[in-house]
Amino acid sequence: MSMSGTRERLVVIGGDAAGMSAASQARRLKGPDELEIVAFERGHFTSYSACGIPYWVGGEVSERDELIARTPEEHRSRGIDLRLRTEVVEIDVDGARVRARDVDSGAESWTSYDKLVIATGARPIRPDMPGVDAPGVHGVQTLDDGQELLDTLTRARGRRAVVVGAGYIGVEMAEALINRGYEVTVVNRGAEPMSTLDPDMGRLVHQAMEGMGITMVNDAEVTKILTGDDGQVRAVATDDAEYPADVVVLGIGVRPETTLAKAAGLPLGEYGGLLTDLAMRVRGHENIWAGGDCVEVLDLVAGRERHVALGTHANKHGQVIGTNAGGGYATFPGVVGTAVSKVCDLEIARTGLREKDARRAGLRFETVTIESTSRAGYYPGASPMTVKMLAERRTGRLLGVQIVGREGAGKRVDIAAVALTAGMTVEQMTALDLGYAPPFSPVWDPVLVAARKAAAAVRNKTP
Ligand SMILES: Cc1cc2nc3c(=O)[nH]c(=O)nc-3n(C[C@H](O)[C@H](O)[C@H](O)COP(=O)(O)OP(=O)(O)OC[C@H]3O[C@@H](n4cnc5c(N)ncnc54)[C@H](O)[C@@H]3O)c2cc1C
Repeated sequence: MSMSGTRERLVVIGGDAAGMSAASQARRLKGPDELEIVAFERGHFTSYSACGIPYWVGGEVSERDELIARTPEEHRSRGIDLRLRTEVVEIDVDGARVRARDVDSGAESWTSYDKLVIATGARPIRPDMPGVDAPGVHGVQTLDDGQELLDTLTRARGRRAVVVGAGYIGVEMAEALINRGYEVTVVNRGAEPMSTLDPDMGRLVHQAMEGMGITMVNDAEVTKILTGDDGQVRAVATDDAEYPADVVVLGIGVRPETTLAKAAGLPLGEYGGLLTDLAMRVRGHENIWAGGDCVEVLDLVAGRERHVALGTHANKHGQVIGTNAGGGYATFPGVVGTAVSKVCDLEIARTGLREKDARRAGLRFETVTIESTSRAGYYPGASPMTVKMLAERRTGRLLGVQIVGREGAGKRVDIAAVALTAGMTVEQMTALDLGYAPPFSPVWDPVLVAARKAAAAVRNKTP
């Protein structure tokens, strides 16, 4: 118990999706007389949508504050003692306390806890190369980053942008910069953009991006960032080429932010994320929970832990943690690996395993790829889409789906996400009772066309 008699104290580290969802849910279940909640956030904002940053930078969302779901004042009015601009610098597990530092004054103090939530998120990868800290080089992890990028875009002398990395943040930022009137080059280490897809599907993204006027440079490792006499960024260099740039955006992935957890001796997995049980409790620690981008999650299709840094999971983790820390009971069973994104009018979606994931998991499988349309072929606005599907040999169990297409393509992946969660076979999927009318889909939805073809492939290969 804490110093305040029978009242317990819940301490939360990290004031965004996972942390503040946990704090809010715990508060719903327990009032301030039963549970004191102290939340530490080192930044200026709480409960903001990093997912919206590309659309704010691109101009679709006009105000930064539209991305803030709940302000610090709103949290405080609900009885959460929120300490902004305060960074936790140490977790003392044996002493059940954390040491926090005021970012502006440097003042430090200890706060004891009965229950602790670690929701420190992820850290963007920032390669250690010359010029990476030059003015004009930007990450896009926080609202502060987004504001700094917008300031650069307003001041920039020219209109050439280089995006380093072609994952979903890279491609979304390419779109944002095009919308701001920039000439965009995407420099990517992989053979094709969107490495969360198989390369054959990534190739479709590559071709579509080139069709949008984006210069795509694949198989290219950025080695340094060149600056001009004024110290500002001037170009991005690989071993054999230079790409002129007035602004550079880095989107090369993230790692779990578990520096504190590691120093405290808490269990980390293969990807450096905290390991939890299904109630999101840190393994081996009754009174410590962790969630969001700082944890590894169970991949329900592959049956092993992965690091998947997505807001959709962070919010659910927070809900589960808050319920448990508030005295209730909830679990997070795991993920099937669903993600959707877009670049201009191209929609990109995936769920489940890629070919290399399936191989790594020791599975044998069939793959099929089909072309179809988003609406009945004769209905105005019908646009082509490609669906790739993986099914397990013999059993016919659905293993994964990837979709590339135009409007109406991306969210079809949710059909496959449900089928994966339910452990359906591709044969069972062919009979799914999906809605149909010509403005919404062909009479056989593209996902069902792929399922039929996959079911046939499984039948033909099974002796
Ligand atoms: C540009 C961009 C686009 C995205 N788009 C999507 C999308 O379309 N769909 C999707 O599902 N996800 C998307 N995401 C991912 C999503 O934003 C994250 O998964 C989500 O924010 C994770 O929430 P979190 O609470 O775990 O971590 P974070 O949001 O990173 O929050 C962690 C917080 O902890 C604070 N913190 C860390 N260490 C300390 C400390 N020691 N002391 C005090 N405070 C600390 C940090 O300042 C931060 O505010 C996007 C992310 C970015 C950057």
